[in-house]
This record gives sequence, structure tokens and C-alpha cells, in this order.
Amino acid sequence: MFDRFQFDKKNENERERQLESLQKRLYEAIAAHNNIREAQISHLPTEEEIKEFEKINIPKVGRNAIEVEEELMNYVFNKQILAQHPRFFSFVSSAVSPYSIAGSILTDIFNANAGSFNMSPCGGIIEEKICAWMGSLAGYKADTCSGIFLSGGSISTMSAIIAARTNKLNEFDFPKGVAYLSEQAHSSVRKALRMLGFRNDQVIIIDTDDDYKMDVKSLEEAIIKDKEEGRIPFLVVGTLGTTNTGSIDPLSEIGDIAKKYNLWFHVDGAYGASSLISKKHRNSSSGIEKSDSLTWDSHKWLMQTYSCSTLLVKNKQTLLDAFVEHPEYLEDVSSTDHIDGWDKGPEMSRPNRAIKLWFTLQATGTNLLEEMIDYTFNNAIIVENELNKRKNWEIISKPSCGTINFRYAKEGMSPEELNELNLDITKEINESGFAYIVTTTLKGKKAIRMCMINVNSTEEDIISTIDLLDKIAIRLTSKI
Ligand SMILES: *Cc1c(COP(=O)(O)O)cnc(C)c1O
Repeated sequence: MFDRFQFDKKNENERERQLESLQKRLYEAIAAHNNIREAQISHLPTEEEIKEFEKINIPKVGRNAIEVEEELMNYVFNKQILAQHPRFFSFVSSAVSPYSIAGSILTDIFNANAGSFNMSPCGGIIEEKICAWMGSLAGYKADTCSGIFLSGGSISTMSAIIAARTNKLNEFDFPKGVAYLSEQAHSSVRKALRMLGFRNDQVIIIDTDDDYKMDVKSLEEAIIKDKEEGRIPFLVVGTLGTTNTGSIDPLSEIGDIAKKYNLWFHVDGAYGASSLISKKHRNSSSGIEKSDSLTWDSHKWLMQTYSCSTLLVKNKQTLLDAFVEHPEYLEDVSSTDHIDGWDKGPEMSRPNRAIKLWFTLQATGTNLLEEMIDYTFNNAIIVENELNKRKNWEIISKPSCGTINFRYAKEGMSPEELNELNLDITKEINESGFAYIVTTTLKGKKAIRMCMINVNSTEEDIISTIDLLDKIAIRLTSKI
């Protein structure tokens, strides 16, 4: 499995022994991980342990590899928050497929550079096939769409904005371009625009309605006003599955407005695009086929390890226009029949992040995946039903894409006291170690947010978590 460096002759036998033992330990780590339910969700190093670890410096003389591995296990891997635990209900975090882990390890071992198609032709075909499959689920035509696997939703969306800017604006007009997004859009969209040099006044934040969906009337008014003032609206970003509430913007109407005013329409589906796999839930995203590009993170809902995101575009030429460069040192390895990775995105050297997803799709099949997605949608509905059975719980956002927000709202408490109380409730449940939940703020209210997309969460996990939340809330308010 491991290559031996030719220099390493001095302690050859000892090295050999250590490497063999290391291979065994890797298998053991995989086996231990299968028992994730038994692991502590949040098991962080103590301050002393952090201080101890900080004392380790980069050595001049190599150390015993087994010692290094043990150190990593003790301080790093066994002392972290396990977002893939079945009772971790924060962020947007699913279970990890064992096939993703296998695909990821294999990809690392053979370490092909996926910048070039020719370095690993069938690896390149895997990426193309998955992009065509995802594109067709979004309603793009498989033969004219394209896509690329990138590190995460943030970089995928940034790349989409680069394509949008190249496609819709003359270089001299960059300072006049205006982009539109809702106040519920992910922070990475604003960050990408800032990284690309857009000023704050070129980024217009559109209000949302009671369901946290973009208000399309405000969108159109803002576009008309900016045009009248001589600015150039060039991009609107809709979200399929907002991070706070799992809401889906009215994609069809946004698409129509984008077409009417000649804007690029990007959909941030980092979290929610995986719902397109479900026949039952795909309709909620109708109109997505009107978009020009789509961000889809498989490390969110499709059980992939970090990192695994895809940027899809309806028209492959738009990616080429934005990203192709022809350096002399790549002439011999550039492809003619296929598009090289480095011509479709910002990265040059990169791992083939599609392989682990391919492994998962092949070994799981889309029927089972669809069942898994539907199952997780229902988990948020179980939460809602359980809350409705208990007193004083107020639903703040209805289940959408497997996410629900709520709070304990006992009568007689002020808005500030309620905010404080709900923070305390989550703090306590996290300290208990039983489950992990964080809050967010929605229209001024502190809300307990549960994202239920882990396929390993059972009904019992959910009910016992709600029971515990209820017990904590009752105790904290017993004197009121
Ligand atoms: C997580 C998320 C992102 C950011 O994606 P990364 O992969 O973390 O960079 C963007 N948009 C939405 C809606 C998200 O949920």
C-alpha cells in the first residue's frame, strides 16, 4: 500500500514494520467508525490536552510512525465533534456513506491529478457522467450542460458568479454590475461577491416572505430601479434549501424575471439540490430548469466526506469562456475530445472528488438513495408532531428540506427572556452529550434549529431528543 522512499534505507526494517502496523491501524479505524452511534457526539480536548499538543513541533529527525498515529488519534480524531453522529442535528450534516470513505481512500492512494482528463480518462468520464445525471435532474439537457466537482458550495458559487460575470458583463462594466440575493441567502454568496471585487452597493439584499422565501415583487422593483439609474443588473441568486429554514425560493418566478431582464440565474442548492433525487419532493423546485447554474454539495445530504461539491451549468461554453487558459507546459496533456478540469473551474491540481460519489451511487443505487432522502424529509415532520404533542412549543418555520425551527414560548415571558431561555435549552442539551443542536435567529426570534438529514437518525433518537428538550425547558421555567 505504501511506497518506500529510496532514501529511507537506514532503518529499513524498522520502517517496514511500522508501515505494516500502520496499515492494520487504518483498518481498525474504519471498523471503530462503524460504531459511531456509541461514540460521544462532542468529545473535545481539555485545555491541558490542547496545551500538551501545542508543544509538538516539526521534528528534524523523523519519529516512530506508530507514535505519530497514536498521537493523532488521541488528540485530533478522538477529540472532535462528530457531525455524522445520528443525534447531531446542527449545521447541514448527514451520515457518511462507507462507500464514500472507500472511494475517498482509493482516490488518495492512487492520487490522479484530475486537472487533466488524459491523466485518468475513466476518472474523467465518471465526473462527466455524474454531472450529466445531476444536470438532467435539474432539467438541463445532458448533452449541452456541463459541470465540475469543486471543494465546496462556497467555491462552486464563486465560480458560478465568475461565469455569470463573464457572460453578462463587459469587463469595463464590472463596476456597474448588480447582483441580487435574498436576506436568507448563504453568507458564502456575499463573500464570493466581495472576493470578486464587487462593492457592497453592487449587492442588493431582497426581503423574504413569511416562509423565508425571496419576495419576487421586491426583486423586480429593485431591478427596474437599478436599470433606471444606469446600473447593470447581471445576476440573481435563488436558494434551493436555505441554511436557516430549508426554504426554497420561488425558482420559476425568479427564472422568468431573470429572463425578462437578461440576468444570469444561479441556484444555490448546496444543501437542497439533493432533494431533486426524490420524485415526491422534486416538484417543490420546479422552475429550476430555468436557471443557468446550480451549486450542489454532496457532502451535505448525499453522505459524502468533505469535500464534494458540484457546480453545474446549463451551457458548457459558459464555463469555458470563464476559465480556459492555454499555458505551454500543458499542451501535451490537454485533451481534445473531452474538457479538462482545469478549463472548467478555478483549480488546476485537484483530486477527483467524483469518484467517491460514483462509488456510493453504484453501490447504493438511486432507488435506495431516493428512499433515504424521503426518510430524512419525514424526520422533520416527526419533530413537528412531537412538539405539537407537548405544551408551549411554537413552530417558527415549518419542516422544509428536513429542517425545522421552533422555540419554547411560555406565556408571560418577554421576548428577551425567551431568546435567553432557548439558548439555555440548547446549551444544556449539548452539555448532556445526548444530542447536538444549535440555535439561529429568525425575524428577531432565537429559534432552536434542527436539521434532520442524517439517514441513521431513528424515530427513537428523535422522540428521546424532543423529550429531553421538553424536560429541560420545563425545569428551566419551573420558577416562572
Ligand atoms: C453549506 C452551504 C453553503 C456553503 O457550502 P460549503 O460547502 O460549506 O462551502 C452554501 N449555501 C448553502 C445553502 C449551504 O447550506
